[in-house]
Amino acid sequence: MGAFSDGLARGRHEFPKNAKNSFVFMCFFSQFTFFSLTYVFFYYIVYPIKHFYGKQVWKLKSLTFSGGIHPLAEQDWKAATKASPLRVFAPASVVIPMRQHLGRPCAPCVKPGDEVLLGQMIGEPASPRDVPVHASVSGKVVAVEERPHVTAGMMLAVVIENDGQDKPDPSIQPRSAAEVEALRPEQLRDIIRDAGIVGMGGAEFPTHLKLDVKGKVDYLLINGAECEPSLTGDHRQMLENGDLVVKGAVLLMRACGAKECVIGIEGKPDAAEAIQKAAEGAREVRVLQLKVKYPQGAEKMLIASVTGRKVPAGGLPAAVGCVVDNVSTAVAVAEAVYEGAPLTRRSVTVNGAVGQPGNLLLRIGTTFRDAVNFCGGFVGTPQKIISGGPMMGTAVAEPDVPVTKGGSGITVFNQITDPVTVEGNCLRCGRCVEACPLQLTPQAISEAYLAERLDLCGELRADLCMKCGCCTFVCPAKRHLSQTVDLAKRALAAQGRR
Ligand code: SF4
Ligand code: SF4
Repeated sequence: MGAFSDGLARGRHEFPKNAKNSFVFMCFFSQFTFFSLTYVFFYYIVYPIKHFYGKQVWKLKSLTFSGGIHPLAEQDWKAATKASPLRVFAPASVVIPMRQHLGRPCAPCVKPGDEVLLGQMIGEPASPRDVPVHASVSGKVVAVEERPHVTAGMMLAVVIENDGQDKPDPSIQPRSAAEVEALRPEQLRDIIRDAGIVGMGGAEFPTHLKLDVKGKVDYLLINGAECEPSLTGDHRQMLENGDLVVKGAVLLMRACGAKECVIGIEGKPDAAEAIQKAAEGAREVRVLQLKVKYPQGAEKMLIASVTGRKVPAGGLPAAVGCVVDNVSTAVAVAEAVYEGAPLTRRSVTVNGAVGQPGNLLLRIGTTFRDAVNFCGGFVGTPQKIISGGPMMGTAVAEPDVPVTKGGSGITVFNQITDPVTVEGNCLRCGRCVEACPLQLTPQAISEAYLAERLDLCGELRADLCMKCGCCTFVCPAKRHLSQTVDLAKRALAAQGRR
């Protein structure tokens, strides 16, 4: 009989000394066994699963951002175009503005009568911080003159009559995989700059500047959210050109020195699956399926959802170790580095009051009118034409403005789809404050602006507004909040207050 059972057999309440030692030993042994088994379980079972299936789409239902809205399915219009493949369209002539990036306009380096080739530089950048502009068709320059522009009113543009032959510029030379592998980060950034690549999500910020980060970069985030209602061009890019998205992401990582890449996709399980498949050979690229919520694709919201980090007010993503680029930008980078091709075309969703809504692969400089005519023409009388989507887009002055590098969509409203609304009095319901993803107070800013209290607008940080439109969307009194806050922001900028 052992010491422990011996003590029990004698009916004592106290264990003999050697039994106590055995008990302590058993406790120690059982704890040791428990921790050992836990270790073995995690090391030999959980870790290999994570390692081998690490490329699986992460479905994080809890990671998102505060504020924002959930547009109803019938309000987002995506159903009309999301199944429409990208159709190639090249018009009879293109109008290519000399300013298509955040910076100084280019100087035209061609004149009327010149023959130009597809991909030939036609606008020289003002400095190494700016990017050049290239011909998006081959043909004859018929004018170099001021033409309507999406945001700049009138802008100097090169008008080219398309000869329909797409004769390429001799500078377009593909690189072998070995040549691409040997490129250093600064060489990659130079190629990206010379190809005229800018943020194609709408910001048009030169991509090479964004990649030239001085500090440490933990994450490159590829923005595949495309949360804006009506737009589905990025969705189609991910479905149809997933390999280019992943190749571009890997090049962007190398160019900015990021350790890891996360491709964030809002909903769109088919796109997430396609990208996951394309990323099978790229260990450092992960796919993250995000919650459907507007504006999930705004840079700061995406960073918050994916990393939990908060970009400081007025700061850049680099301040929290992140660089964010759009899906279409990644495609353009892959084409520039592997094919030597400059940015001359982009995906554009034509949606709303048009005959056949769809997704087009358009030459830069195609006018809105030509693109809409290719999609069956206007339905009814166009009341409002927007470059981009209905929430963050910019209403254009006329249909003859050309598509620029940052133009992701053409959304058309007629008198039925955009009925005139009358502003009511504020009900003090607070919904606009709840919806603002940046925790601003839209009604207070709006009131301050209308009362000509610009100092108060500054105190309420109107300068931080990203014009997402959530406040206007939720307002039961139909107040034009985002528009007024934007006016306050512009007035502050004009006075150099922020
Ligand atoms: S105030 Fe600006 S950032 Fe806030 S909800 Fe309105 S438009 Fe969006
Ligand atoms: S949502 Fe509209 S009605 Fe409600 S507090 Fe804001 S401005 Fe006023």
